[in-house]
Amino acid sequence: MSTVSAYAATSATEPLTPTTITRRDVGPHDVAFDIHFAGICHSDIHTVRAEWGEVGYPLVPGHEIAGVVTEVGAEVTKFKVGDRVGVGCFVDSCRECESCLAGEEQYCTGGGMVGTYNGVGRDGQSTQGGYSGAIVVDENYVLNIPDAISLDKAAPLLCAGITTYSPLHHWNAGPGKKVAVIGLGGLGHLAVKIAVAMGAEVTVLSQSLKKMEDGLRLGATAYHATSDRDTFKQLAGHFDLIINTVSANLDLQDYLKLLKLDGTLVELGMPEHPMEVPAGALIFGRRSIAGSLIGGIAETQEMLDFCAEHDVAPEIEVIEPDYINEAYERVLASDVRYRFVIDTASLR
Ligand code: NAP
Ligand code: ZN
Ligand code: ZN
Repeated sequence: MSTVSAYAATSATEPLTPTTITRRDVGPHDVAFDIHFAGICHSDIHTVRAEWGEVGYPLVPGHEIAGVVTEVGAEVTKFKVGDRVGVGCFVDSCRECESCLAGEEQYCTGGGMVGTYNGVGRDGQSTQGGYSGAIVVDENYVLNIPDAISLDKAAPLLCAGITTYSPLHHWNAGPGKKVAVIGLGGLGHLAVKIAVAMGAEVTVLSQSLKKMEDGLRLGATAYHATSDRDTFKQLAGHFDLIINTVSANLDLQDYLKLLKLDGTLVELGMPEHPMEVPAGALIFGRRSIAGSLIGGIAETQEMLDFCAEHDVAPEIEVIEPDYINEAYERVLASDVRYRFVIDTASLR
């Protein structure tokens, strides 16, 4: 076992504080790496504050992790010391169920994926995430970061990037397709960039026009405020695909009406209250509501390679670990352009 510095939450209500945690010895199939950067995902905040259920404290969040390999197990074939690597939202799964065999490990039905934090690994130990100096992960759950992507910008791709790439890819965003992105935050700004790179025509639906200049610079061709009722009249029946990155409860009926015949609205955020829609909003227009959870390991690698090839990277604000609590407050206030990334040098 090795000891590393980290930032942990000790309860749902207290600020994160510095601590030390242990990492397991490097097993035959493990890769150990120094963490250089860790992104702050809104899901970290939901989890830390126990909004998604029970949490084992102390909890070290962080599932957008990028770093450099320091040691590999005797039987590791995919990585070597010095490789630039990343880890996303999960570090293991059953490897035997239909989902795992199909490379959709995030939908593992054999006990579920093992979360990068707040999960329990094969060794029975609680998993702890990326707000720390180093980590040990089975090589099958580690990604290669292409040379064209710097480690600080690679980090957010490992959750925000794959979470938006996967549904855009699944529902065929591309030339001739009109895509709307609700919410220009961490996920939303990458959804815009990735959908544009796929060749789709992209519209941002934001609460206000405050970030309009940014949205258009990222490649969107239109930007509308959802606080303006006119938006919903103007865009009725306009989109093939709507990607909803907002976790607040929205009136989905309004948004469904923006879909064309056969259009789909994909939920990525998890609102606190159940969603209610009248069946007519789906029936008239053969519309669908769907959900999507991150992406599998193979698809995550595909996304990283796609981003390298198409020069897609997040817009980030790099912070020191002692700024994490303030960063959380700013994420909650939608005051982030567009992802906080922790420089973990002081934790190594
Ligand atoms: P984020 O950076 O906070 O972005 C969310 C955006 O939602 C904000 O920037 C804001 O955009 C909009 N928003 C916030 N409050 C709102 C409200 N009350 N009404 C309407 N719009 C509001 O968060 P994120 O990291 O992108 O994550 C977004 C959600 O996705 C979180 O709930 C997270 O847990 C979830 N998530 C899901 C998956 C998955 O696999 N499905 C993966 C990762 C994260 P505007 O200012 O432009 O309106
Ligand atoms: Zn996340
Ligand atoms: Zn499985």
